[in-house]
Amino acid sequence: MSESAEALALCLEALADTLRHHRDLGFREIGLSRKPFPEPRDVLRSTEEALAGCQRCKLCKSRSTIVFGSGSPRARLMVVGEGPGEEEDKQGKPFVGRAGQLLTKMLAAKGVLFDRDRDCYIANVVKCRPEKNRNPEPDEVLACHPFLMAQIDTIQPVVVLALGNFAAQTLLGTKEGITKLRGRTYPYRTGVLIPTFHPAFLLRNPGEEYKRMAWDDLKLARREYDRLTSGR
Ligand code: URA
Repeated sequence: MSESAEALALCLEALADTLRHHRDLGFREIGLSRKPFPEPRDVLRSTEEALAGCQRCKLCKSRSTIVFGSGSPRARLMVVGEGPGEEEDKQGKPFVGRAGQLLTKMLAAKGVLFDRDRDCYIANVVKCRPEKNRNPEPDEVLACHPFLMAQIDTIQPVVVLALGNFAAQTLLGTKEGITKLRGRTYPYRTGVLIPTFHPAFLLRNPGEEYKRMAWDDLKLARREYDRLTSGR
């Protein structure tokens, strides 16, 4: 095949992948009048609209609200947690309960200095609260996966901070535990992924050792963020 025919075949393959991805997200039509480079805010809004009334998994029975995500659509740092808890389910916003308050404080701490609303986009692996905060099940994680990936591909973060086993394992496609995964960066899509402990784990295990490790991970996130955004 000539070089130009090969390039065209690659483009068409990528277009087919994109269309399949949109079909899996629930889109039934793609208007031709859409802007070629839509604003991330608008893309997030239409992805959230595609989730409205979602019944793709059994979590639709235990939720009151679909907790899609919050923060800046132009954030360069994306934080990914496990799934909404009771308070998040009530308020429709991720990380607003006790674990969320700790996360907000850790992000804003001296030497890290991320404002959760201005500098971050925050989402979860599953968007609906599992009953009594049980762990999300594989079919639930799978059902929500196209939406999480759509969020990541819209934000195009330079750093993804993955909180706890579920986020780190889901995004990295591994069964390795967070204690082994944390403490380093992994190349990830448009940047790097940094796994760290979930703030709820830190609340349950208030020892200095875990706190110090989480602190090291956050400082690593700040360094990588600065390195990858300098000159951009
Ligand atoms: N825990 C999570 O993983 N996500 C939230 O949004 C809240 C608590």
